[in-house]
Amino acid sequence: MVNRCVLCESSLETHSHLFFECPYSAAIWRAIAVWLKISPDTSLPHLFHWYKVYNRGQGLVKKQRRCALMCALYLVWHERNKRIFKGIQATPVTIIRKIKVLVLLRLSSL
Ligand SMILES: [Zn+2]
Repeated sequence: MVNRCVLCESSLETHSHLFFECPYSAAIWRAIAVWLKISPDTSLPHLFHWYKVYNRGQGLVKKQRRCALMCALYLVWHERNKRIFKGIQATPVTIIRKIKVLVLLRLSSL
């Protein structure tokens, strides 16, 4: 299949699939949602709505959530590229751990 998702190897790779619908990405989002105590709905419209409406402002929790969203997007993209260009794979658990560390490091630097 042309443009097959390298994370699950079973679906067409679209932005929506890669970042939110892929079982690999969805597992990451669910774990992050539990960690941040937000809705486990990992659909793209829900996450955009959540980011736009509920996460404006300067509170620490809001900064943590925004940072987690950005880290998750970046690390899913990074994982995709590592698999394509270097043949290296990481489990969702490893990515989840990286997201948490990056978020905590970012928050501790504020
Ligand atoms: Zn996939």
